[in-house]
Amino acid sequence: MLHVGINGFGTIGKRVADAVRVQPDMTVAGVAKRSPNFEATIADDRGYDLYAADGREPFDEAELATAGTVHDLIETSDVVVDTTPGGVGEANAPLYAEHDTPAIFQGGEDADLADVSFNARANYEKAVGADTARVVSCNTTGLSRLLAPLKESYGVEKSRVTLVRRGADPGQTGRGPINDTLPDPVEIPSHHGPDVQTIFPDLDIDTMGMKVPTTQMHTHSVNVTLESEPTTEEVTSLLADESRLFLIPETLGIDGAGKLKEYTRDAGRPRGDVWENCIWAESITVEGRDLYLFQAIHQEADVVPENIDAVRALSGRTASAEKSIRRTDEALGVGRGLVEHDGSPQRVDGHADD
Ligand code: NAD
Repeated sequence: MLHVGINGFGTIGKRVADAVRVQPDMTVAGVAKRSPNFEATIADDRGYDLYAADGREPFDEAELATAGTVHDLIETSDVVVDTTPGGVGEANAPLYAEHDTPAIFQGGEDADLADVSFNARANYEKAVGADTARVVSCNTTGLSRLLAPLKESYGVEKSRVTLVRRGADPGQTGRGPINDTLPDPVEIPSHHGPDVQTIFPDLDIDTMGMKVPTTQMHTHSVNVTLESEPTTEEVTSLLADESRLFLIPETLGIDGAGKLKEYTRDAGRPRGDVWENCIWAESITVEGRDLYLFQAIHQEADVVPENIDAVRALSGRTASAEKSIRRTDEALGVGRGLVEHDGSPQRVDGHADD
């Protein structure tokens, strides 16, 4: 079993911990937190050992038992997933190096903090045996999963993406906008294009970003000029074969992120999480070499399976992306409960037996 420590137990960290917990080859070594807030009580309730990131006194006062300091957690872990807020991972990096513990950072950190920027579908092999990896942001993850099969099958001449981004996560009461539509960032290209190029260095991509008053999901308006001329049906079938892409059938009557989240809550997903890119099947349109589509990305969830694959890659115990992805998806339930784009039930089958 791989002992995985999680440093930072917020939006991403608590989901990564719960995803580690259900993997057959991993166990949660513990989670580090700064404060004994509601998420600390959830960690305690789950049975995760709590480690104090900033001193044990606040936890003692709240009568929450701690197993040690963050140094103890790093020492006891085979791999640490750092899910602290953007920029804090950089400050933590020397701790992991000091303990010689492989570490995974998140998309809020600069790319040069880690040996490799990581997306399981696109470049798993680059991270095998590395000391550090950065799981790219939710938006970059969503674009990488889409572009990888398109590049492989048809070649990509140029990508143009407009990202309509949620203003905040549901718990981020201090963020907005609450009544506006913002070009954000105003500069073009937005930082998303260069971030996608940390995964595909030779990709020609322009991105424009906006922020809108929703906490539900991001929505991408995508135009990719391909190097060859597949039919709409061929592209639909290619994307439907990808385990982390969900093609929303027209018959479901899902017109936006609100109903998508309702669907995954109804399907019994923990926290209503949507780990897959959600592509409106009827939006997939090929005109000549130009592909158009809309996809929604659940910012709180899509990076979670990627973190699990990054743990396996850094551990060096699973050399194949396909095996790791299958194992992660099966244990977590990626695809489960959702129907295929042609209306048949979606399945996750087979066992990764490395
Ligand atoms: P968050 O604020 O929800 O959670 C971060 C947690 O880390 C909080 O519990 C905070 O108290 C704790 N923390 C702060 N300083 C710490 C320290 N020194 N040691 C230990 N814990 C500390 O943040 P988040 O949304 O989970 O984001 C974490 C990372 O994931 C960021 O890099 C972010 O850019 C990235 N990310 C976030 C999202 C998203 O939509 N929320 C999506 C993809 C990637």
